[in-house]
Amino acid sequence: MFKSGNCTECTTCGSCQQTPNVDTPTLFCMNCQPSDAPCLMACSENAIEVLGGAITINIKKCTRCRDCVDACTLDIIKI
Ligand code: SF4
Ligand code: SF4
Repeated sequence: MFKSGNCTECTTCGSCQQTPNVDTPTLFCMNCQPSDAPCLMACSENAIEVLGGAITINIKKCTRCRDCVDACTLDIIKI
């Protein structure tokens, strides 16, 4: 069972949707199918990528425009 107080935000469990960090936008979300994920489709920089079936943000490409934040109806992405 997930206990938030014990979470080290390692993301290896695959359940973690977001690892907040003020400097580095990180994301590991499996809520949407990669083929129709609103965040992925909203990113004009192609910075949102699929890694092991999860949606992730490539921070080297991300310009922090926040279009993906607006596109996600579940308010998962924090940038
Ligand atoms: S903030 Fe902008 S550039 Fe970065 S992942 Fe989201 S949509 Fe793409
Ligand atoms: S749109 Fe939101 S819920 Fe869907 S994959 Fe992207 S971050 Fe996850």
